Amino acid sequence: MNRLFQILHDVFESSNMPTRRPVLRANFESNIAGLYIIGDLAGAPVVKLAMEQGNDVAAHIAAKPDARGGDRNIYDIVVIGSGAAGLNAALGAKDSGLRVLVLEKSKIANTIEDFPEGKWVYAEPDSRPPRGKLWLDGASKEDLLARWHQIIHENGLDVRTGEGVEGLQKQNDGTLEVRTSQSRYIARRVVLATGQRGNARWLGVPGEEREQVYHRLYSPKHYRDEEIAVVGGGNSAVEAALTLAEQNRVTLAYRGTEFARVFKDNRRKLDAAVSAGKLTVIYQAQVKGFDEGTCTLDIEESGRHRSLELPYHHAFVLIGADAPTEFLRSLGIRLENDWAGNPAAAAALTLAALAGIWVWGGKTGIPAFQGQAVAGGLAVIAALGSLLILALRGSRFALLGVSFVICYTIYGVKQAEGFEYWPYRGWGARLLTFWNRPWSFWYTVLYTSVMTVFGLQAMKRWGWRQGGKRDTFQIWRYVSLISFQWIFFFLIPEFLFRWAVQYQWVGERLAHDPVFAGQAWRAYGLIYAWLVLFHGKRYCSWICGCGGLAETLGDRWRHLAPKGKTSVRWEFMNSIVLAAAVVVTLLVLGRDFFHIFGKPAQTGLEYYHLFADVWLVGILPVTLYPFFGGKVWCRYWCPLAKMMQIFGAAFTRFRVSRFAIDANEKCIACMECTRNCQVGIDVMTYALKQEPITNANSSCIGCGICVTVCPMEVLTFARAAAGPAELVQIATN
Ligand SMILES: Cc1cc2nc3c(=O)[nH]c(=O)nc-3n(C[C@H](O)[C@H](O)[C@H](O)COP(=O)(O)OP(=O)(O)OC[C@H]3O[C@@H](n4cnc5c(N)ncnc54)[C@H](O)[C@@H]3O)c2cc1C
Ligand code: SF4
Ligand code: SF4
Repeated sequence: MNRLFQILHDVFESSNMPTRRPVLRANFESNIAGLYIIGDLAGAPVVKLAMEQGNDVAAHIAAKPDARGGDRNIYDIVVIGSGAAGLNAALGAKDSGLRVLVLEKSKIANTIEDFPEGKWVYAEPDSRPPRGKLWLDGASKEDLLARWHQIIHENGLDVRTGEGVEGLQKQNDGTLEVRTSQSRYIARRVVLATGQRGNARWLGVPGEEREQVYHRLYSPKHYRDEEIAVVGGGNSAVEAALTLAEQNRVTLAYRGTEFARVFKDNRRKLDAAVSAGKLTVIYQAQVKGFDEGTCTLDIEESGRHRSLELPYHHAFVLIGADAPTEFLRSLGIRLENDWAGNPAAAAALTLAALAGIWVWGGKTGIPAFQGQAVAGGLAVIAALGSLLILALRGSRFALLGVSFVICYTIYGVKQAEGFEYWPYRGWGARLLTFWNRPWSFWYTVLYTSVMTVFGLQAMKRWGWRQGGKRDTFQIWRYVSLISFQWIFFFLIPEFLFRWAVQYQWVGERLAHDPVFAGQAWRAYGLIYAWLVLFHGKRYCSWICGCGGLAETLGDRWRHLAPKGKTSVRWEFMNSIVLAAAVVVTLLVLGRDFFHIFGKPAQTGLEYYHLFADVWLVGILPVTLYPFFGGKVWCRYWCPLAKMMQIFGAAFTRFRVSRFAIDANEKCIACMECTRNCQVGIDVMTYALKQEPITNANSSCIGCGICVTVCPMEVLTFARAAAGPAELVQIATN
């Protein structure tokens, strides 16, 4: 049972790996009205983008009609955290005439203050000029901080250092009370910009709290002729090891087998230092504890474990920082994909809603429920209303219940009359037949409308990025998706083929052939293999109707797609569905051409329809859009996606594929690409290693969102194999 819970937990929480952010509305407002979250906490990975957010949030608040208040005891804005984001927000707000206070737990710009002495602060991305009053250019940490102190002084900004915020309370009059270690303040609005770097991650091993063990490196020059142990496998650990190795004997202990997440430049420097004997690296090493002068490592070699006592004068554990989830929760801030709520209550209410629909439909066959339509209707309203209220209060399980009832109804009624699913059986299809057209027709109308409305919204989101920058690749992609839906999946099957059959444009014989009437339009599927050769699995993100709904309606939840190795392993399920589809197709061919396997073919078709066409394509994935993003069907169950994957992998291996995403050396490990990949690919790891993403090493569908979101313009579409194909590149202007 525990194992089952663990698996479910891993699945439900997998989208939170490796970053989890607060749920934010437009303009950075959190679930608490008047509380805005910006900077690193809101996903700005570098100083310049954190500054941009600070500038934007200040402009947004200043433009509100009630931005300024007359009461001297109430601040217009209290900014929590004096990093790049907070300072720029405060300067912008002050410039607009608002009364501003900045509260800082430690020193001004403490994250940058904590960088090692002399560290160069890069002002990436080059293509965007810094916005706001704070200064930024490539500079040493010391020069940058000196400029920032000067700006704070010149602008008379009220920054209270050493005053960490401990609590936040919404007042009845709409203001917010901010409690610090020393005082309390009332504000009309609060901007939270506390960053993510405050909580250095610990290993949790004995002796880690010793004086000689640090979780940050401040002054590398202070260490000379020492035995130094560095623990970690990221850029911070590698950079620290390289710097310390200039004057010391350094051992870098890493639990992985390769440095997959470090910049190429760092890896090159590390290899050079190891070859020159300046630095020792121990892979697959787990730290077991720190004693006086020795660090115990458990090292795995070819499946065997051995223990090593590593001497050290100082040790640096540099394994990243934990997002301050508990702090955010304690303030009442809702986090993405927080599985809050009561699952049993949500399940009971969902069942009650369906039972109410059953009674309302009047076909229960149970005398006591006959004629109780009003009672059934009231039960539905009460149950669905309760689910909605719980969902609005943050219960994910209640939201799951609402989503399930909607999708189950849409697909459950789509069956032929009398075959609808409980509780719609015997009445659902008739109820949803309008103007002599069945629900299946209106379902296509609904599907096409939803795709069009949300497609235009998604086109606006990705086609015109910040600053009005146009991304023609994304605009064309959404034009293609919406057009294919209209032409191939709506107008042709619902009108052209109907008329072709009705008016016998195709001749009398074909017009009377039921297979032609129902299926011939699907012949466009013959172009798959050709498409894969040139465009990888782009069919999924440019043409397909299922993929289209995921890219349009599902777009707002794309960042929730499960990430990590476990989620990739689960993709094996689409091989099973593909095998089932092949078996059923062979049976049908046997039936139609050789008049054998008639019964098994029929049974196979019925089961395939029930499991694949209804549950795996329809009810389950669309229900799960708000929780796992739009690509559940495409990624885990679609046999066509699996088939294209097989073709794509073969074309890549034979070096005839023209599909790949290349990376340059500028990746800053911000994770935006990984976060937004709807099929859960860890794009950042490929980018850091500058390894092309192909269909041989990933299930990439070529949507190009990773290319679009990358703030450093690291990624481009290019061809993987050597050969005559020309470069296919994303055009942004
Ligand atoms: C080792 C390292 C190297 C980096 N190098 C670069 C680089 O070269 N170029 C680049 O552009 N970016 C770099 N970055 C990223 C950059 O530091 C961040 O993107 C940026 O600092 C984020 O700004 P922020 O204002 O959101 O948060 P932060 O700069 O982290 O500021 C948050 C502030 O809030 C304060 N605070 C925290 N909790 C509280 C509380 N409860 N109450 C009050 N105050 C609180 C903190 O003390 C801190 O001063 C680097 C990061 C690291 C870790
Ligand atoms: S890797 Fe990039 S292009 Fe490929 S599916 Fe993910 S986001 Fe889309
Ligand atoms: S490639 Fe990905 S991780 Fe690297 S800078 Fe671009 S978006 Fe960030």
